[in-house]
Amino acid sequence: CGRPVQRLINTEWSSLSARYLTRMKARKTAIKNYDVVIIGGGPAGLTAAIYAARGKLDILIIEKALVGGTSLMIDKLENYPGFPEGVNGYELATKMEAQARRFGAEIVQDEVLEIKKDGGKFIVKSQGSDYTCKAVIVASGTKPQKLGVEGEDRFTGKGLSWCATCDGAFYKGLKVAVIGGGNSALHEAVYLTRFASEVHIVHRRQEFRASPALIDRIKTNPKIKLHLDSVLNKIDGSSKVESITLKNVKDGSLKEVKIDGVFEAIGSVPNTSFCKNFLRLDEKGNIITDDSLETSEPGVFAVGDVRNTKLRQVATAVGDGAYVAAALERFLAVSN
Ligand code: NAP
Repeated sequence: CGRPVQRLINTEWSSLSARYLTRMKARKTAIKNYDVVIIGGGPAGLTAAIYAARGKLDILIIEKALVGGTSLMIDKLENYPGFPEGVNGYELATKMEAQARRFGAEIVQDEVLEIKKDGGKFIVKSQGSDYTCKAVIVASGTKPQKLGVEGEDRFTGKGLSWCATCDGAFYKGLKVAVIGGGNSALHEAVYLTRFASEVHIVHRRQEFRASPALIDRIKTNPKIKLHLDSVLNKIDGSSKVESITLKNVKDGSLKEVKIDGVFEAIGSVPNTSFCKNFLRLDEKGNIITDDSLETSEPGVFAVGDVRNTKLRQVATAVGDGAYVAAALERFLAVSN
């Protein structure tokens, strides 16, 4: 799949399995005009594309890595309506992609570097090409936050991961640790109990920032061990992860735990480096939008996890995608 996938391998997504990676092929287009360029092919971008392409707009989705975005990391989405038994994130994203393509949306693998305004048009400057359009939807999502502890760089891809769905199966009968106390961390921990003999959750407080149902599940699972009021201090090993050192935040004491794998799940940061000089962002780097999901730049909209939303779920991302299509039509009707 070439350089984009190599870049992916070198990032925190390092270990997404080959079955995901082989799906995307670099397909560079010549400079071309579109009605709308959507930056990011996760659930928010795909839904916006489904609605807008069905409304006969000429749509291009630019995705730098894999269509589906972070939803690909979800083993089982249990709260997405219509799937009483839950649905796998990859399956759902694949269906959304097929639906967007059926209505005529084009999808290209490329990395957006900058958005510029040129008269009444926008130019989306990307690594492989430049694309011009009448409106832009930013749906670039988030990437996992790193802890910045000793051993993090050294053990990335060698026992340290940010995706249990991608790498969990490597830890059959082994011991793993999950860092974090939010919904993602607890989901990852429960998922990892399918493979690992022990799953150690390391959380810096006593209370979890997760749904009560999930908290019940981790507290009653005999494979899960809790290290509360604790933070990861260091990851150690020779050629791969062999142990972690935890620090108790109350008394400062250190404790070594023998472990074969570490999964960090401490939240995420928005992918906004390409638009930080063009759009207004909040203090965390999220794109600020108004009631129509329009950004500080008229004609540029933002949807899903990348905007300053209070809830980041696949269902809310899909809602944003549907909602923005109406605002987009209003904008195009006035600007034409
Ligand atoms: P999150 O809710 O922000 O939780 C991050 C966790 O990591 C928190 O427990 C936080 O501790 C901890 N943390 C952050 N920085 C840390 C540091 N430097 N050292 C140690 N611990 C640190 O992030 P998330 O779990 O990725 O979830 C993101 C959003 O997606 C949330 O809105 C979440 O509800 C949603 N989500 C929903 C589902 C679901 O409903 N099925 C599944 C996954 C994610 P503190 O609690 O002490 O701050």
